[in-house]
Parts: sequence; structure tokens; C-alpha cells
Amino acid sequence: MVATDTKMILFGAPGSGKGTQALKLAKELKLKSISLGDILRLEVSKASDLGKQVHEYMQKGLLVPDGLVSKVIEENLISGGFILDGYPRNLDQAKTLDDILTRKNLKLDFFIYLEIDENTITKRLLKRGRGDDDPLVIKKRWEVFIEECNKILKHYKNKKKLIIVDGRGGIDEVFSRIKDVLK
Ligand code: AMP
Repeated sequence: MVATDTKMILFGAPGSGKGTQALKLAKELKLKSISLGDILRLEVSKASDLGKQVHEYMQKGLLVPDGLVSKVIEENLISGGFILDGYPRNLDQAKTLDDILTRKNLKLDFFIYLEIDENTITKRLLKRGRGDDDPLVIKKRWEVFIEECNKILKHYKNKKKLIIVDGRGGIDEVFSRIKDVLK
């Protein structure tokens, strides 16, 4: 059984299924789900100051500047359990997150990497068809991901938090793999 104050990060390429799995896990484990992409999309739809600042980056598949997103993370991280998805996306963000957690006296339990290849992801995203799921933007998001991926994995491996889960296959198949490693 996973404790209700478990704090974990779900990490993976765009289209790896991290958003879907984060929601399912949060529901089953009764943890708060924090999806940075969802929070940003909501701000864009409200046309808030933040939304206006991040809109163009998101449309192009680029990362929003760290200063803008770290504030959102700082405001949303709570002392109970949570599943964070969409952050960190580069090594600087990983270090910022370390600082935020230390300041708040919180400790991360797991960093789960949903591993999946570019071909599978492109097929999945084209099927999903969200605003930024256009072939060129998908390519850009994959490149942005790969550039930082190994550095982030190394960071959490050194901290002994890294768990790698095969992200291929159906939603339920991947979900049970994640639950197995959390046992
Ligand atoms: P997602 O829903 O996680 O695929 O995120 C959609 C878009 O939101 C990304 O392509 C980025 O433009 C932006 N975004 C989400 N998370 C971050 C982050 N940690 N840092 C910077 N930009 C982000």
C-alpha cells in the first residue's frame, strides 16, 4: 500500500501517457494530481497575465521560461501527497524543484520515468489531436525532451529516486506496471 502522503514525479516524453497515468494514479492512491501543462492551458484559456505570457511558447512546442513555471510549482506543491506531471523538464528545473522542496521541508519519494520511443509517441499524439499535436510541433517537443532527458534521469538516479517503467502498450497495462513497482 502506498502512503497517502507519497510524493512522486511522473516523467516522460510528450505522448508517453504520463498525464493519463498521473490522473489514474492520483485517483486510486488519493493523491493530489498536479499537471503543469494543464495548469498552463487553463491560464491560457482564461487569458490571464500568465496565460498571455506562456501561450506562444506552448503553441510552438517550446518550454516556457523557467522563471514563469517555477512560481506555479511553488504555489501548487503541498505538504500532503502529490503526483507531479510536466515538471521538471530540464536540469535547471530539477534543481529548482530540489530547492522548493527543501524550503517547504518536503521529501520526494519516487521519480518514475515512463520510457517510450519516438515512433510510438508520434502515432499516439497524432491520434489525440490537441492544439499542439501537429507533426512539426510534435517533432520539436520530442527534440526538446531528448535534449534534457538523460541529464534529468542522471540527477534522480544519483538521488536514488529513479524508477523506469515501460510505457508501451495499453493504458491499463502500463497502469498495472506502475502499481507493481510502487508495491
Ligand atoms: P504538456 O501538457 O505537459 O505536454 O505541456 C504542454 C506545453 O506546456 C509544453 O510543450 C510547454 O510549452 C509547456 N510546459 C509544460 N510544462 C513545462 C515546464 N516544466 N517547463 C516549461 N514549459 C512547460
